[in-house]
Amino acid sequence: MENFDVIIVGGGPAGLSAAISAAHAGMKTLVIERGDYPGTKNVMGGILYTKATDMVVPEFWKEAPLERPIIEQRIAMLSGDESILAGYRDPDWAAEPYNAHSILRVKFDRWLAQQAEKAGVMIITETLVEDLLYKNGNVVGVRTGRAEGDLGAKVVIIAEGVNNFLAVKAGLAKSLKPATVAVTVKEIISLPKEKIEDRFCLDEGQGATIELYGDSTAGMMGVGFIYTNKDSISIGVGAILESVVREHWTPNDLLENLKAKPYVKRLLQGGETKEYLAHLIPEGGYTHVPRLHRQGVMVVGDTAMLMNSLNREGSNLAMVSGKIAGEVAAQAIKAGDVSDQAMAVYESRLRDSFVLKDLHHYRHMGKFFEDNPHLLKIYPKMFSKAAKMYLTADGTPKKQRQKEIIQMLFEQRSKGGFIKDLYGAWRALL
Ligand code: FAD
Repeated sequence: MENFDVIIVGGGPAGLSAAISAAHAGMKTLVIERGDYPGTKNVMGGILYTKATDMVVPEFWKEAPLERPIIEQRIAMLSGDESILAGYRDPDWAAEPYNAHSILRVKFDRWLAQQAEKAGVMIITETLVEDLLYKNGNVVGVRTGRAEGDLGAKVVIIAEGVNNFLAVKAGLAKSLKPATVAVTVKEIISLPKEKIEDRFCLDEGQGATIELYGDSTAGMMGVGFIYTNKDSISIGVGAILESVVREHWTPNDLLENLKAKPYVKRLLQGGETKEYLAHLIPEGGYTHVPRLHRQGVMVVGDTAMLMNSLNREGSNLAMVSGKIAGEVAAQAIKAGDVSDQAMAVYESRLRDSFVLKDLHHYRHMGKFFEDNPHLLKIYPKMFSKAAKMYLTADGTPKKQRQKEIIQMLFEQRSKGGFIKDLYGAWRALL
C-alpha cells in the first residue's frame, strides 16, 4: 500500500487549497478526484473572492483564468412584471487588489489544480474514494474504487463537497435533509462582449452581478442570480429543496420563470444557451455544521456546511477552511501527533476567522425564514405596489398619496405583524 502524509478527497476549491498549503509545508500530498479532471463536476454562480484566493495563490489574478472583475453589485426585488432595484458600483474594484471576479469553474478549478501540482501535489483523477481506512478506530487512509486502491495517510481531509457521503460514513456528519440544501440550476448563455457591456453599463472588461429576490424564486427561500462573464452570462436560481417539492416546482420551471421576467428577458435577449448545470448548495448554516475533526481526519468546505448564502459566499469559506486544514495537518504530522486534540486546532482557527464567525452571526436566519414563509411572498408585492403608487404622477397630492400607501401597507400586514417581522429580521440578520 502506498503511503502519503496527507490525502485529500475532492479537487474543488477546498480540497485544492488544503493540498497547496500541505505541500508548501513539505508534506507528501495526494488529491483524489472522481471527475475526469478537477472542475468537471463543479458548479458555482460564480463569484470568486480575491482575498481568500490570494491567501492560497498570491497575486493569482495575474495568471488565473478569470472572467471579469466585479465593479457593480445589484439587488432586484421582483414582483410580477415589476422590479425594484438597488446597487453599489465601485470603479476601484476594477483594478488591483480587486474585490471579486466572475469565473467559470471548469477553467478555474483546472488552473488551481495546476498550481497544486506545481507545489508538488500529486492528483489522481477519475477515482472515487469509497471509504476511509481505520486501524484501532483511527483513520489511516482511504479506500478507492480502483484495483489495489487502498492508500495510507497520516491525515485525511474530506473535501467531497455538498454530497457528504464519506463524512456521514465516518460518523462526522448527518445525511443531508431537504430543509438543509438548496437545489440550484444554472445556464451559461453566450452573448457578444459589447452587448454585455452595453446592457450592464460597463466599461470594457468590467463585470456586474445581480441577485434577484421575491418572484425570482416564486417567493420561496432562495435567490436568482445573473453574473457577467467575458462573452457569456451566467443565470441561475436556487431554493430550499423542501419548499420546491412542497410547492410543486421543478428547478427547470423556476429558471424558465425567472428568464421570462421582463427585467431579465431584456438582459438575455439574443443569447444562446451553451451549458445547463444543476447542483445542491448546503444551507444548514451554523447549527448544522458537522463535527469538523477526529483523530487523523478533518472536514472542509461544503462538506462542513461552510456556506454563507446571504452574502453569496461559499468558495472563499471553502478555500480558507482548506488552507487552515492543510496547515494544521502539516503541523500535526511534523509534531508526530495527529490525535483529535491536534486536529482541534483546525476548528479553533476556523472559529477565530470570519468563516465560523459569519455563520454564527447568521445562525437564526434559516429558521427565521422557515418560520415566516410569508416574508418573501408578501413584502416584494407590498414594496412594489408602494413604489408604483408613489412614483405614478396622476395628480394626487403627495401627502394624500403617502397616507394611501400607509393604509395599503397596513391592509396587507397588521402593525403587530410588521413589528414582529422587523424584530425577527433584526435578530436574524443584525
Ligand atoms: P466542491 O466544489 O463541490 O468540490 C468537491 C469535489 O470533490 C468535486 O470536484 C467532486 O467531484 C469531488 N468528490 C466528491 N466526492 C468524491 C469522492 N468520494 N471521491 C473523489 N472525489 C470526490 N460560492 C461563491 O463563493 N460565490 C458564488 O457565486 C457561488 N455561487 C454558487 C452557485 C451555485 C449554483 C452553487 C451550486 C454554488 C455556489 N457557490 C458560490 C458555492 C461554492 O460553489 C461552494 O461553496 C464551493 O464550490 C465549495 O467548494 P468545495 O471544494 O467544498 O466543494
